[in-house]
Amino acid sequence: MRKRLIVSAASALSLFLAVPASASDFQPGAAGVGDSYYPTYGNGGYNVSHYDIRLKYQPTTDELEGTTTILATATQDLSRFNLDFALNVAEVRVNGRLAAFTTSGEQELEITPARPIAKGSQATVVVRYKGVPSTMKKYGFTAWLRTPDGAVAAGEPESAWWWFPSNDHPSDKATFDVSVLVPDGNQVISNGILTGTSSQAGWTRYTWRENKPQATYLATLAVGKFDVTTDTTPGGLPVYNAYSKDLGDNADAARASVERTGELVDWLSGYFGDYPFSSVGGYVPNVQTGFALETQTRVFYSPRQFSRGANTSVVVHELAHQWYGDSVSLSRWSDIWLNEGFARYSQFLWSEHENEGTAQELADYVYASHPADDAFWTVKPGDPGADNQFSGAVYDRGAVAIQALRNTVGDEAFFRILKGWPTERRYGNATIPEFQAYAEKVSGKKLGDLFTTWLFTAAKPATGPVAPGAAAAASLAPGAGQTDGQLPAEPKSWKKIQETNSLHDAGH
Ligand SMILES: [Zn+2]
Repeated sequence: MRKRLIVSAASALSLFLAVPASASDFQPGAAGVGDSYYPTYGNGGYNVSHYDIRLKYQPTTDELEGTTTILATATQDLSRFNLDFALNVAEVRVNGRLAAFTTSGEQELEITPARPIAKGSQATVVVRYKGVPSTMKKYGFTAWLRTPDGAVAAGEPESAWWWFPSNDHPSDKATFDVSVLVPDGNQVISNGILTGTSSQAGWTRYTWRENKPQATYLATLAVGKFDVTTDTTPGGLPVYNAYSKDLGDNADAARASVERTGELVDWLSGYFGDYPFSSVGGYVPNVQTGFALETQTRVFYSPRQFSRGANTSVVVHELAHQWYGDSVSLSRWSDIWLNEGFARYSQFLWSEHENEGTAQELADYVYASHPADDAFWTVKPGDPGADNQFSGAVYDRGAVAIQALRNTVGDEAFFRILKGWPTERRYGNATIPEFQAYAEKVSGKKLGDLFTTWLFTAAKPATGPVAPGAAAAASLAPGAGQTDGQLPAEPKSWKKIQETNSLHDAGH
């Protein structure tokens, strides 16, 4: 208390004397952005508008050298600020001047510029670095995945640390230029549009541009030997897909799935509105992992997703994220339902389209197949906790919650919400309460009880996602509707949908 009084007196004095801002008013930016699930992820005190990432990568040794230039605007008077990064830094410059730097924690790079940065001003931060990303373990793992002919950066919620320094949190999105030099004969895959390649003295440079805001975990990079297909969707969107040349038995099933990207993105546009980005596609590198990830415009698929044959369900899931997750991004990781609930629900819609089970049948099946004492119901999709962020319940119960919403507001309002939300919030960030408010505005219904029951209660809801018409019967005969022990027939699409549950098992 005494200390606080002294501070107040000091600031009152400086106000009274009308002293211009001095260096002592400048404070360090926070080491985290304030996310309750990942307190050290992201940083405080600035927002990034652009990353320019220039790399040189040698696949045989996994040696990576880089220079990343960051355009950042200070949101406070900054004496010092942090980036999140795992590799060894050789030099940092801020606005052209050499800056002091040190590391702390697992992935904090603390930068003290020669001159402090005034609130509202834009700074140019240049970081030079090198390292062997596969050897840099943070929290016991690396998101840099080695392949027989190169490497891939893909992981959620963290993958940027192993190839570029960043403000690593989805609340701070930016545009990206990624330019990578690799030995001739290798290729580089990244987000957006391939704007050029050039070759000199045995090395080839690939230059990619993502011109729409992108969260750092949605930036991806792959180096290796790929078969590339390019096309334009019936809707006019450029498609760029790539497949490792050594996918073996999974090669054809991967193509039979990912080559349908153009068709599926146009189909999803019917539900979600215009596709938000200027290119689309996917790539299948020869990694050992099993997951897929909605990396912006260029989805990452593990070959294992296609080990039982073609899998359009996972393609639909990852493409749905381009609206729900990539264009409209999380403000905080606890709202992961806004990504995974809707991506899973898009698989329900695809199942219905393919006559392999309606969304209602799938929702009824999920509800009935987990008895009330199943740990499944202890996970709250609206706030699952960091450890359960990608548990099956976030996806499955999350999608059933959306079917419950559909039955509550009716199809007409529901499909207006489904399309209107990513349109209204395009390229931004959002929270679950903001989504609820939007759904209430569109439907004219109060939805607090529904959201509490389906997203924020660690117990099985007393009644299932009851279809219109079935509600009356269920209320007349409680217990006679969907109860434990009366398992409806398994929808035909169910196994395929469940296979994608390893989607975000990033191996840690
Ligand atoms: Zn997903």
